[in-house]
Amino acid sequence: MITSGARTSRDPGNPYSSGRLFMRLWKGYLSQHKWMMAVAFIIMMIDGSTLAILSRMLEPLFDRVFVGRDASSVWWVGGVIFGLFAIRAATNITYKSLMTRISLRSSTAMQADLLAHVLTLDGGFFHENPPGALIERIQGDTVAVQGVWSSAITGLGRDAVSLVALFAVAVSIDPLWTAVALVGAPLLILPTVVVQRYIRRKTAHVRSQAAQRATRLDEIFHGITAVKLNRMEDYQISRFRTIVGRIVKTEVRTAASRAAIPSLIDLVTGLGFLGVLLLAAPQIVSGARSVGEFMSFFTAMTLAFQPLRRLGDMAGIWQVAAASLERLFTLFDRQSTIRLAANPVQPDAGRTDIRFDNVDHSYGEHVVLRRLSFTAEQGKTTALVGPSGAGKSTVFNLLARMIDPQSGRILIGGQEIKALDLGALRDLFSVVTQDATLFDETIRENVVLGADDTDADRLAQALDAAHVSDFSDTLPLGLETQAGPRGSALSGGQRQRVAIARALLRDAPILLLDEATSALDAASEALVQEALDRLSKGRTTLIIAHRLSTVRDADKIIVIDHGSVVEEGTHDTLLEADGLYASLCRLQFTE
Ligand code: ADP
Repeated sequence: MITSGARTSRDPGNPYSSGRLFMRLWKGYLSQHKWMMAVAFIIMMIDGSTLAILSRMLEPLFDRVFVGRDASSVWWVGGVIFGLFAIRAATNITYKSLMTRISLRSSTAMQADLLAHVLTLDGGFFHENPPGALIERIQGDTVAVQGVWSSAITGLGRDAVSLVALFAVAVSIDPLWTAVALVGAPLLILPTVVVQRYIRRKTAHVRSQAAQRATRLDEIFHGITAVKLNRMEDYQISRFRTIVGRIVKTEVRTAASRAAIPSLIDLVTGLGFLGVLLLAAPQIVSGARSVGEFMSFFTAMTLAFQPLRRLGDMAGIWQVAAASLERLFTLFDRQSTIRLAANPVQPDAGRTDIRFDNVDHSYGEHVVLRRLSFTAEQGKTTALVGPSGAGKSTVFNLLARMIDPQSGRILIGGQEIKALDLGALRDLFSVVTQDATLFDETIRENVVLGADDTDADRLAQALDAAHVSDFSDTLPLGLETQAGPRGSALSGGQRQRVAIARALLRDAPILLLDEATSALDAASEALVQEALDRLSKGRTTLIIAHRLSTVRDADKIIVIDHGSVVEEGTHDTLLEADGLYASLCRLQFTE
């Protein structure tokens, strides 16, 4: 699993410390928007300073208009105040649209990069990390960091500027009053540090629970038939409720601790106000200070209150984002175990014989292949048979480099596959598997797989040869019929025929067939088998088949047991040898 424990963010050796996370975020996704950010920042500064000017206007309002009884001054004072609100209206709309643009552009860029990176990872990674968790990471975690830069800019631009400007107003009226108002501020430091750590830890927990929630949903919807047939609805719902219950509990705790800082600010501000009142009241009563000065000071301090609270929450916002960023960058740092050759060579198109030479492979502790050696001749059909779990599918995964073996060599046309260009290697294969993987697209799209410029005649030939036309012609929408999620709108045999058409069109020199006909009824099987025979003609073909009837005609049969080759030969020679193959045959025929 890609873990991302909450280390202390100040640990200098921690690659996911707040500082490093921020720098990576800045370099990768924010710095390219720096000009737009600068404009937003300036707009925020204008917005932030309007409040200070507003509070400053209260002094002439009180001292000249109300107390000084100079009615005509109301026009210019009122005009300035209206102007300030008009400016705020304009700045508000501009910065919102700018910030939305920056947030969305950077978070979607991150999503695309993350997807591109994840797609380079090996089969082992996808075995460890369920699809739901990966979806949550790409969608949920990137969105979780989306808000952070808009909050940061809003905070630093508008709130910090208003705060500074409002304090400047306060200091200009009375530095002593200001100092008294701030007397409790140092009390905030320690709780802020403690709360930040707590928030990061809890948020990391919420994010991993969210990944579990996505995984549950993914498993339920993918296994919907099994869920219903086994009456697992209540069980699945209760598991889901448990997970979301945990999310609620943790989120509420996080929110409460986040609110602790603004609450503390409230208390500290209340104390400050009380102090100022006690100090200022006698001065005003004695006439040493004016009512207007006090009102202006009081308003400046009151207006400083909201930005101060928001800034107090900024650390919390950052911690929430940092928890997601840590998960995202942990994933970015995960490298594929498939090591690409430094100077990859192109495969020799004319030679496609396959050789496994003393290949060992294990999944963790579990040894699957033991010094496996065999060859599959070019243009011939080689069948791999053996009990379930013997390691046959692993052979396919190794061949296409979904995983790499612990030791031994795998060669195609005499070249080690490790040395070949990975894309070119995979271009050598057409794969038709038992659970023919179809996408929720039209039948045509499922056959051409993105090659929209496919020649119409070639497509028609492939569709006919694979017996796809037989059924697609009878559908009202023909080839434009949607195949449904994972091809569920088609029958098993139809799905396989679509997969065969795909392979025919792909026209790769090596064909890998995995149990291609095992799940079909006799009529479908005959059609699929005929299509497969056409497909395998002239290609180097490797078949995994449990049903021995389908491999009888293979040029060579390799019997694998416990990860090693125990016998090889043709159907007849193996029957004669009376070993494992013969006993597997006897078992099937008595069935
Ligand atoms: P076969 O195709 O012959 O039935 P496989 O190659 O699929 O066998 O699997 C061989 C063994 O490896 C099995 O015991 C299986 O449980 C194990 N195995 C397969 N894939 C994985 C994996 N990703 N992680 C752990 N064990 C695996």
